[in-house]
Amino acid sequence: MNPKRIRTLKPGKTGDGPVAYWMSRDQRVEDNWALLFSRAIAQRTGVPIVVVFSLTYRFLGARKRQYDFMLRGLQELENALSRKKIPFVFLRGDPGQKIPEFVKEYKVGTLVTDFSPLRVKAEWIEKIHTEIKIPFFEVDAHNVVPCWEASPKREYAAHTFRPKLYKHLPEFQEEFPELEPNSELPEITTGTARLEDFAYTQETGTGPLIPEGLSGGDIDPFFESEHIKPGEKAAQRMMESFLAERLDSYNTLRNDPTKTGVSGLSPYLHFGQISAQRVALEVEKTNADPESKKSFLDELLVWKEIADNFCYYTPEYDSFESFPDWAKKSLNAHRQDRREYIYTLEKFEAGKTHDPLWNASQMELLRTGKMHGYMRMYWAKKIMEWSESPEKALEISICLNDRYELDGRDPNGYAGIAWCIGGVHDRAWGEREVIGKIRYMSYEGCKRKFDVDAYIARYPVERAPEK
Ligand SMILES: Cc1cc2nc3c(=O)[nH]c(=O)nc-3n(C[C@H](O)[C@H](O)[C@H](O)COP(=O)(O)OP(=O)(O)OC[C@H]3O[C@@H](n4cnc5c(N)ncnc54)[C@H](O)[C@@H]3O)c2cc1C
Repeated sequence: MNPKRIRTLKPGKTGDGPVAYWMSRDQRVEDNWALLFSRAIAQRTGVPIVVVFSLTYRFLGARKRQYDFMLRGLQELENALSRKKIPFVFLRGDPGQKIPEFVKEYKVGTLVTDFSPLRVKAEWIEKIHTEIKIPFFEVDAHNVVPCWEASPKREYAAHTFRPKLYKHLPEFQEEFPELEPNSELPEITTGTARLEDFAYTQETGTGPLIPEGLSGGDIDPFFESEHIKPGEKAAQRMMESFLAERLDSYNTLRNDPTKTGVSGLSPYLHFGQISAQRVALEVEKTNADPESKKSFLDELLVWKEIADNFCYYTPEYDSFESFPDWAKKSLNAHRQDRREYIYTLEKFEAGKTHDPLWNASQMELLRTGKMHGYMRMYWAKKIMEWSESPEKALEISICLNDRYELDGRDPNGYAGIAWCIGGVHDRAWGEREVIGKIRYMSYEGCKRKFDVDAYIARYPVERAPEK
């Protein structure tokens, strides 16, 4: 594997104990560079590997729907790992504390983790770094081109990032080797909890799988979980159906929220249940329409990886400060403009604005956990128009995005919202009231693009069903 995927967080001599992969962002067995790197060190030193995961409560505002999706995926992962004789150790609590405890208790020789550009991961790494004495490595298993290799600085637009990414692509877009199993299943003698002991909210096991801390008061009555199945196998099936049925028409249908024209892969990509590199490799192998392949890969590679670049090089990625200077200046100049409507978080959350199209998009989010990509732009731009300030609009958009999107709490979300509200990765447009030079989207514009009435009819605003 390309050594540029790996960064040494703490140098040192590899210990005699097992190699532990602290899995965080890339929750899969297949096509996982962090797991493959762990295997390579383990083989060199003649020790087994063990995978460890530490569950935090209320992770960046996540709710039942996301925990259930993730934990069911982890259950499948535990089984897949056990077929490779790799133990899966499931801890609960702050990884900054739990991982060093585990390292000590289990006499781990080397620690490996996957890369995330979000602040919370950097904070955990910093804590762990000070607590452990063994070598510690980080592997970018999420991006095709490792974030630090694609560009050494924040990129201000896709057109500056694209050539850099494509220049590096041939070096990194390689096939994955198979993951060798452990020669025997190592005994884990620590008293840590296993995922199989994890609490179900309902004794039958048919209800959502969530941490105990979330069991009360987290009501999510609209969510129809049957829309999407979690796990690596389901991710693979979603990719296969996309390649066979939707990729060919991606270019023409992807911006129509009344059609099933997109891949549906974002929840799986977010939880790392599928590798973007695997998807890109499989897309290349098809005979689909070349323009569709090109535009899909542009989203999957350029737009997805520039989002990591944005969060990595802009630690204040979820604030007004992250916006480009032209946007801040323009938004500041329009702070006092009269807003035609101002809604509270609660009104937005319930889909109770004056605009049936906006309300339908909110209902799509509440019901399916995945709003169509085209509607996400309209959704966030209207929150900006109907909030008292850009800061409030950011706060509301991030809160709802992270609370209800299965793929929320992701660099794509922070970058997408900053694009809509703060012109990040965009340019200045004609000046308007309230939104200044930020790109505008309208109901009339949507009507020209797709059958707005059909979309509204599909997602009526209803009273919450009794559950
Ligand atoms: C306001 C707003 C909020 C968003 N929030 C999120 C979020 O929380 N999580 C998330 O993963 N994406 C987010 N996006 C980006 C995009 O809308 C979703 O990735 C896409 O709709 C997911 O559906 P799909 O996988 O079927 O998309 P497809 O069109 O099939 O795209 C395939 C993949 O390409 C990537 N991609 C597509 N569009 C974008 C984009 N605009 N920016 C970055 N990557 C992209 C995603 O990884 C996606 O899964 C947001 C966009 C906006 C404008």
